[in-house]
Amino acid sequence: MFKQDQLHRFLFENYSVRGELVLASETYRHILENHDYPQPVQQLLGELLVATSLLTATLKFDGDITVQIQGDGPVKLAVINGNHQQQMRGVARIDGLVSENSSLKQMVGTGYMVITITPTHGERYQGVVALESETLAECLDDYFRQSEQLPTRLFIRTGIQDGRIAASGMLLQILPAAEQESTDVFDHLVQLTATIKGEELFSLEVKEILHRLYHEEDVVLYEPQPVEFRCTCSRQRCADTLVTLSDEDVNHILQKDGNINMECEYCGTHYIFDADDFVEIRSEKKSRLH
Ligand SMILES: [Zn+2]
Repeated sequence: MFKQDQLHRFLFENYSVRGELVLASETYRHILENHDYPQPVQQLLGELLVATSLLTATLKFDGDITVQIQGDGPVKLAVINGNHQQQMRGVARIDGLVSENSSLKQMVGTGYMVITITPTHGERYQGVVALESETLAECLDDYFRQSEQLPTRLFIRTGIQDGRIAASGMLLQILPAAEQESTDVFDHLVQLTATIKGEELFSLEVKEILHRLYHEEDVVLYEPQPVEFRCTCSRQRCADTLVTLSDEDVNHILQKDGNINMECEYCGTHYIFDADDFVEIRSEKKSRLH
């Protein structure tokens, strides 16, 4: 049965613990479209996508989260950006050979995970953790242990469902102002959740999944939120980048190629500017400054 990409929030009635469950397979396939990533890079982007979606859903305000991995290995950058409306996009930059069974460490080398939270109104927050663990989920655990945030655990599953690539995951978090919630309770719920299999997340109804995991607990399930691929690029944003280049550089490209062709690395859209467009962009910038 076809399941739409959705994010579900739930709450344990008898504990100060909340949860999330996301299916993001369709969004995942959109992100991989038009790119020829090696399998381990595809998997890394799927894991980042699930993590970003789950983290974005914990925001108490409008804004967006970027989770990015950067290092000195062949995978220079892998990044997913998502907002409170669960609109996600992402890209990886590779320079070198990524073999079929590469581990996270082999792909990224000495690297970091950077989590940037950007509220629509308010100050940006950035957290950095060294990539020292074997998997992305473990690195996220390191992040939550090291930054003084609410105890949080993520469970990420990627794989194949009905011959197509799939990504899904869950999150458990102790509620704000309830940090005294017993560690035993949280650990117990974490142990139960860790048993979830990819194929169950990809194919079963959410109620069925929650029943299988927590059949002895009372769980309240809230209305789901759609998750989708959406790129925030635009002709205007490209124009804004273009005006930061020197006249000399722009004229050089125009003389050589006849126009400036900017491609969005996230979605592959081409934005083409010719000499006339550029005159217009320059004059628009001037009128905005005056
Ligand atoms: Zn784009």
